[in-house]
Amino acid sequence: MIEPVLVLNANFEPINICTTRRAVGLVLNGKAGLVLNGRGTIRTVSITYPKPSVIRLHKMIKRPRLAVRLTKREILRRDDYTCQYCGQKIPYLTIDHVIPRSQGGSHSWQNLVAACPSCNHRKGGRTLDQAQMRLLHEPKEPPSSAQYLFSRHLCENEDWLPFIQGW
Ligand SMILES: [Zn+2]
Repeated sequence: MIEPVLVLNANFEPINICTTRRAVGLVLNGKAGLVLNGRGTIRTVSITYPKPSVIRLHKMIKRPRLAVRLTKREILRRDDYTCQYCGQKIPYLTIDHVIPRSQGGSHSWQNLVAACPSCNHRKGGRTLDQAQMRLLHEPKEPPSSAQYLFSRHLCENEDWLPFIQGW
């Protein structure tokens, strides 16, 4: 089982998630410090070490602001697993191009929505006007807050919440 470890930048901003193995490596190499341990210990041949849950880098890392990746999984999550045409919440949603690709629609947050198979089929290769259909919400890029980015890990890692809130 992989236990993810939350990595904080030197200023405490949550920036990444890594494996326990990598986190312990960073700590033992002096690159990071243990912030939270709540998972017992790891034993190797030579050492016993607390298993980290959150670590913090000693040196500030510069990086571009994180953004949510445009994937099917993230589109479904943004749309709360709900068809954006009829409002049905079903487990086998598809992704619809609001303006069809054949009519120049882009592959972007603003043009992709969750749709149930029957709405997707009904709309076909038409625009909203052509199909006389309406969206429940205007599709937008989701917030790039740490809380949104890391929220899918929070149910299993509640102890991360104080480190993620507000970023
Ligand atoms: Zn639908």
